[in-house]
Amino acid sequence: MSSHCPACDSVEFQLLFTASDRLYHTTSKKFQVVECKRCRMLQLTPQPTPSELETYYPKNYWYTLETSAASRLEEIYRRLVLRDHVRFVERAVRESAVSGPVLDVGCGGGLFLRMLQDRGFRVMGLDFSHEAAHVAWSLNHAPATCATLEAAPFPPLSCAAVTMFHVLEHLYDPRTYLQAAHELLRPGGRLIVQVPNAACWQFRLLGASWNGVDVPRHLYGFRPEDLDRMLDSCGFEMLRRKYFSWRDNPAGLATSLAPSLDPMARRIRRSKEGPSTRLVKDLLYGALVLAALPFTALEAACRAGSTIMIEARKKTA
Ligand SMILES: [Zn+2]
Repeated sequence: MSSHCPACDSVEFQLLFTASDRLYHTTSKKFQVVECKRCRMLQLTPQPTPSELETYYPKNYWYTLETSAASRLEEIYRRLVLRDHVRFVERAVRESAVSGPVLDVGCGGGLFLRMLQDRGFRVMGLDFSHEAAHVAWSLNHAPATCATLEAAPFPPLSCAAVTMFHVLEHLYDPRTYLQAAHELLRPGGRLIVQVPNAACWQFRLLGASWNGVDVPRHLYGFRPEDLDRMLDSCGFEMLRRKYFSWRDNPAGLATSLAPSLDPMARRIRRSKEGPSTRLVKDLLYGALVLAALPFTALEAACRAGSTIMIEARKKTA
């Protein structure tokens, strides 16, 4: 894999730190996180090959499918914390006054699409994972396809909005997705993107322990200006930026501080836990998420939250 900067084409980088898969332990291989000397965008090096990268995504990474009482509670929680994603998209589409479906790229199990559908939106989903697309359809009744965005079977100029939550940082070439989204959007249509914010306080304080770097699954790290530049060069005009997400910011700090308590990491690492250990760890993690709330709210209020969600408008030439 070449390691030129996809934002500015520079080939000169500066080493920030060396790390391995701290969260899911899928590999013991070490990677470097480097910063582009010209534009400062972060990237992982060496970039894993596609077959290598696949092994870094645990089988149940994209969605969870359980029917226990605990997972029903989990769904209630996930719906609750997804509400600000839904509201953000709802406002973007309403203000655009463009009609057409909303396409969620990287839709996972489709809960977000279902919530949009419940509010009267036409939706479509897209995911790398066949199983995720299947779950989105069978469980959440969201029409979903397994494909990459540039090969997705949708006609150009057909979408009112394209959403990509935590997608760009996983791609070898984020620009191809932005360009493909540009082609799919109707004039004035909206692109909504969320990525970890590499300019957040958590990264400054925790460095390699910040879960937003997520070695080796995150191939790039964006600061707000990196995202602005890339969007602008792909034909988008920035309209709105938000630094707080109920789903991602407090839980992200909790996971950074105690990765071994993260419920998903425990599931993926198949930690051997009896029911009481499991309950204690869940409660501890929940307490940590609550304790993380004031700090994550403060950093977001100072425009240095650990995620960035943006609304951008397709520019018409
Ligand atoms: Zn660069």
